[in-house]
Amino acid sequence: MAAQSNHLVRHFFGGFVRLHVLYHAAREPICGVEMIEELSRHGYRLSPGTLYPILHHLEESGYLTCRVRIAAGKRRKDYQITAAGRKLLAAARSKLRELFSEVVQDHDRMAAARATRRPQSRGQE
Ligand SMILES: [Zn+2]
Repeated sequence: MAAQSNHLVRHFFGGFVRLHVLYHAAREPICGVEMIEELSRHGYRLSPGTLYPILHHLEESGYLTCRVRIAAGKRRKDYQITAAGRKLLAAARSKLRELFSEVVQDHDRMAAARATRRPQSRGQE
């Protein structure tokens, strides 16, 4: 893949990853390890070195709060969404709904329409 499109892939998926993080942090406190597992379930393979800066950045920006706990002798940071994070998530959700209706639903509708047209046009040949 070309360097430019790699950059764009990171750009887009980076946004998706942040949305996932906000969404899950809104449901329950999450730590980095759990989030990496959750993201891999969705097909995103992230290393701690990629995810932790994202979590820190969301925390610094005021969208997440962090609480340290000790679990099995290990220091774990649990992240939870803030009021500002919920606001951002709600705004993102409405943008996402709009984007989904065009990029996915319109696309599927057009593809379905093409699929039903095809046998007819073949019949006319
Ligand atoms: Zn998820």
